Amino acid sequence: MNIILLGPPGAGKGTQAQRLMERHGMRQLSTGDMLRAAVKAQTPVGLQAKAVMERGELVSDEIVSALIGDGLDAMGPDTGAIFDGYPRTEAQAGSLDGILAARGRSLDHVIELAVDEDALVERITGRYTCANCGKGYHDKFEQPRVAGTCDKCGSTEFKRRPDDNEETVRTRMAEYRAKTAPILPIYESRGIISRVDGMADMDAVTAAIEGLIAD
Ligand code: ADP
Ligand code: ADP
Ligand code: ZN
Repeated sequence: MNIILLGPPGAGKGTQAQRLMERHGMRQLSTGDMLRAAVKAQTPVGLQAKAVMERGELVSDEIVSALIGDGLDAMGPDTGAIFDGYPRTEAQAGSLDGILAARGRSLDHVIELAVDEDALVERITGRYTCANCGKGYHDKFEQPRVAGTCDKCGSTEFKRRPDDNEETVRTRMAEYRAKTAPILPIYESRGIISRVDGMADMDAVTAAIEGLIAD
């Protein structure tokens, strides 16, 4: 099974992708995570992407589509993919069709996480992750069970993204509206898109997604 999670920054794509991975043995392919790894490793792609990401603008279609192709090639042919943060433009949606077809895969579900823009700034500015295992947290909405200790791996080191500040979030939301929202009709015309209320609590969102993919 191959699924796209679509939604603006802070909609809950990463949170839900982590849960789907754990429950269904699928693999999350997050272009944001891949780009951050490239920035950290100072690869040519990372050096090119760093400033663009810091401004909250979109990295080139060629770069992210190449990352997705490599990501798929690195996983077993029978492992399902969860696309998180890709595609983000009409060109990327077109590339994904070709990338999947070349590997004998096809899209089963596109799930749109619908959220109020007002809620996104609070979600993004309160977001942090475990520095060791990547588990996501939030200052207000998802704190570790034991303060300062990761639920999943026990690490006491956490990190915040440099682009998770209010100013950059505004740019990222504008990019979503201008370039990503226009791809929704492509999937609507194919009849594979479903909308989930991303304002519900995390467990309710997970339950809604589980219901969709069980059909
Ligand atoms: P969020 O989860 O908040 O939506 P991501 O981690 O997906 O953010 O992306 C962080 C940044 O990485 C984006 O603001 C953009 O600069 C870059 N990026 C990630 N995915 C893509 C993509 N598919 N196309 C272009 N740029 C991307
Ligand atoms: P995205 O990957 O779409 O950018 P995340 O999954 O990283 O979004 O979620 C952004 C922040 O909001 C995280 O700190 C996460 O813990 C929190 N969050 C995710 N889903 C919900 C929800 N349904 N209700 C409240 N907070 C949420
Ligand atoms: Zn951890």
